[in-house]
Amino acid sequence: MSGAGPRIALLGFSIECNRFAPTAARADFRVWLEGEAILADARSRAPGALGEMPGFVRAMDKAGAWQPRPVLLTMAEPNGPVEHPLFAEMMAIWRQGLEALRGQVDGIYCVLHGAGLTTELDDPEGALQALVREVLGQGVPLVCSYDLHANVSDGMVRDCDAFVGYRTNPHLDMRERGAESAGLLRRLMAGERFHRAFRRLPIVAPTVSQLTSEGPYAEVINLGQAQANALGPKKIANVSVMGGFAYGDTPFNGFAIIVTGPDKPACEALADELAKAAWERRARFVAKLTSLRESVERALTSEVPLCFADVADNPGGGGRGNTMYILEAFHKAGVQDAIFGIIHDPALAAEAHALGGGAKFTARFNRDAAKGFSKPFTAEARVEALSDGKVTGRRGIFANTAIELGPTAALRIGGIVVVVVSRRTQCADPAFLEHLGLDIGAAKVVVVKSRGHFRGGFDEFFSAQRIVEVDVPGLTSPVLDRFEWKKLPRPVLPLDPETRWTPR
Ligand SMILES: [Zn+2]
Repeated sequence: MSGAGPRIALLGFSIECNRFAPTAARADFRVWLEGEAILADARSRAPGALGEMPGFVRAMDKAGAWQPRPVLLTMAEPNGPVEHPLFAEMMAIWRQGLEALRGQVDGIYCVLHGAGLTTELDDPEGALQALVREVLGQGVPLVCSYDLHANVSDGMVRDCDAFVGYRTNPHLDMRERGAESAGLLRRLMAGERFHRAFRRLPIVAPTVSQLTSEGPYAEVINLGQAQANALGPKKIANVSVMGGFAYGDTPFNGFAIIVTGPDKPACEALADELAKAAWERRARFVAKLTSLRESVERALTSEVPLCFADVADNPGGGGRGNTMYILEAFHKAGVQDAIFGIIHDPALAAEAHALGGGAKFTARFNRDAAKGFSKPFTAEARVEALSDGKVTGRRGIFANTAIELGPTAALRIGGIVVVVVSRRTQCADPAFLEHLGLDIGAAKVVVVKSRGHFRGGFDEFFSAQRIVEVDVPGLTSPVLDRFEWKKLPRPVLPLDPETRWTPR
């Protein structure tokens, strides 16, 4: 190491890919940072990147001198598989950047999601990690962090020195995991060596069964943390319990446990204990949804305000953010005092902007996007509010993150105010609605297109008891037997009740 501290390569690739959704192109990558831009973003007040890189950079800055060697960081809202030529373009940039650093770095930090796909690859993260090893060799410590929805391949575990997964869902610990990665990389650079124990179970847990405030997933995560604390950092450096992302539909889908640490027998034993604990809870990894008919009834008659989640059209899982099932049913039933957030419809938002505030017109949803689950819907509307869609998240997964919703409009349709945006985004932050002057606390009914991250943003208004997960069709429906799986390992729970697994 030179006198100015360790030289650390920084790179990353983050997208969650739904095999059943349309492909992701360059315009879908809202974060594309090369070189110094990664650092400028990470050190800014409201970074565009999610929290891992800012958390890592700030922890490194705080711990003393270091020499960042930033390469390329790309991030996109969940979508379909990435168009392969685009991924190849990224790989070329990473390769060139890493080759320029050969023999000149002391450590590497790589921000990954873990549930990426390309139109040709099931495991782009594994490909990127293999590239890092190929160019920089086995001797330079590599720490990788992942979303807990990662579908963990053997290559992902092999080609790193420390595997760090989120522990919260909704994801509220991205900065902490970035900072933790910095600490682990410092230990590795100081000469420690870590083993990684890996177990994968034949359980593809529906997304709605993977909350970490309570329930089976929380119990396994908490057990892992308790045991890691009891054993101490000299034995266990990190415990990652990965719920996975069913809609990736890869041969390596499955509930995964990765225990990283200096003490191999302790890591292996803890991985076994956690795998057994997860398997014992297998019957509880199921979705419990409310039918649309019952949801309408509750929206009309509830004495207390309720939040209805369209978990099947979650842009945060590749949903298009524009299905009409709930809006149409609530409108037809005459639901009052409702806010509906948020619908992705650039043509409608543009029309509302052209007409101006107060205008009355016939809103035609999905005029350009009628495809699959996204059906047209028409209703008489009034333009209540308009914005440029530039929002800084205030709570939950997008807190302190700069988000661009694009031209945005609030449209009144009967008793419902619908927020229409031009960039497909999960409704996870109250600011997406509030910046238009909407009062969430005064609404009797709030509908969000989100699977679970809204819980971290809207918890100020709705306790878990006041949340209704609605069962409608969609690309992210937690009812897994509605999909035509091609690559999932079978048998697997909950699809195949006869699935067996025995501890080692
Ligand atoms: Zn996730």
